[in-house]
Amino acid sequence: MINKTVSNTVVAPLELLQKYDRPGPRYTSYPTAPSWTDEFDAEKYYKALQKAGKNTKEPLSLYVHLPFCEKRCYFCGCNVFIPRRREHITDYISALKLEITKTADALNGRNKVQQLHFGGGTPTHLSVPEFTEVMDALQERFILLDTAEISIEVDPRVTTKEHFVFLAKRGFNRISMGVQDFNADVQKSIGRVQPYDRTKRCVEFAREQGFKGVNLDLIYGLPKQNVETFSDTIKKTIGLRPDRVAVYSFAFLPTRIGNQKLIKVDQLPTLQEKYRLFNTAQKLFSEAGYEQIGMDHFALPDDELTIAQGKGKLMRNFMGYTVNKATDLVGMGISSIGLVSGALAQNSSDMDTYLAKVNAGEYATVRGLQLSDDDVIREYVISSIMCNFILDRNEFSERFKLSFEEYFKGAIEELETFFDDAMLVDDGTVLQVTALGRTFVRNIAMVFDGYLKKQEAEKPLTFSRTI
Ligand code: SF4
Repeated sequence: MINKTVSNTVVAPLELLQKYDRPGPRYTSYPTAPSWTDEFDAEKYYKALQKAGKNTKEPLSLYVHLPFCEKRCYFCGCNVFIPRRREHITDYISALKLEITKTADALNGRNKVQQLHFGGGTPTHLSVPEFTEVMDALQERFILLDTAEISIEVDPRVTTKEHFVFLAKRGFNRISMGVQDFNADVQKSIGRVQPYDRTKRCVEFAREQGFKGVNLDLIYGLPKQNVETFSDTIKKTIGLRPDRVAVYSFAFLPTRIGNQKLIKVDQLPTLQEKYRLFNTAQKLFSEAGYEQIGMDHFALPDDELTIAQGKGKLMRNFMGYTVNKATDLVGMGISSIGLVSGALAQNSSDMDTYLAKVNAGEYATVRGLQLSDDDVIREYVISSIMCNFILDRNEFSERFKLSFEEYFKGAIEELETFFDDAMLVDDGTVLQVTALGRTFVRNIAMVFDGYLKKQEAEKPLTFSRTI
């Protein structure tokens, strides 16, 4: 039996980074977004919620999208809305409250929550009184369990001490701060000037208020970045001792993300330089005692993600890696995504449509997908590989009453290259991704994706690059 414990990070050689860098899904869901259709509509979503409501004892995961930002950063690919007037926010909060009520009604008393996440946009663009209104509405209908993970994304440029005091009082225990890069030239080139001291102060506020987890988000592959400047950013990040750090690859897709046209192409690092940036992150975080979680996260050894990964219990959903995933994830707010009763469902990403639908007493669901048996099987395999770097044939056959070898005959042949490059090992029972293979885990997972070949043929540039 292969040991499931976490081994140390291995810095990936450049030639392998080059060999495996290609467009591919991040697998925050399976099936991935291009497979969802508008045939999954509000009516189907309502039925999925009603069905989920029958599991009264099971707690829920909730995601709430607050899309507002002061100004759009050039690199940003999130669903963001820049309010010209404060009433835009007031109108949104009113609609969100209606959606909370309608969702809770459909769930019919299933109201315990073990995971709540606010994403954006910048959730703390809301003032404390505005946020209070949202939290009051949520807590009127949902009960946050004492053990719940309550997390939020914040932008240090707009988040005040008052926000931190409020969030701690309302039970928030994990905070993610967008940093991207501490270098002033890089910051200017991405339209996001955020002095180091501002971030440092926010980390201190969070610690003072007793947040159990402080995460920082970096991005590599941004304009003007080089190994020297990025090393400095990483060292400053390590100096703040966050519990977790996400080091995302910059997905430059200007034809899809209009604001990225403001990025000067000649300032972007070459692919070779981009790989070196990631190597630098792996090396410095590993030397500082962080463990690599999945392909692009690093966490301290005593962090619950590291411990869960070591035990093969790490999970992943739209909110990222987690140990607290519930059987159903309910999304609320513009563009939010949920997974309810085995169906993926997404709200409209258009503000007018979202407001009109919710204010008319409807759900704002515009697309989704009811997972088939095959989807469920592949989701299990992809998730096991992405999160815990293993696939246990015995667990697979026990769960699905199927032979892994027979079900994935074709896919297994495609794994050959990963064995040859020492990214996978196999003891006959467990397939395990090696420490080197972690960086390429998206590529390995792609082998088990039942939709990918068709998607690539139809729309080759749908996904960001894997490295
Ligand atoms: S603050 Fe965050 S969400 Fe808002 S535009 Fe910048 S990166 Fe995007």
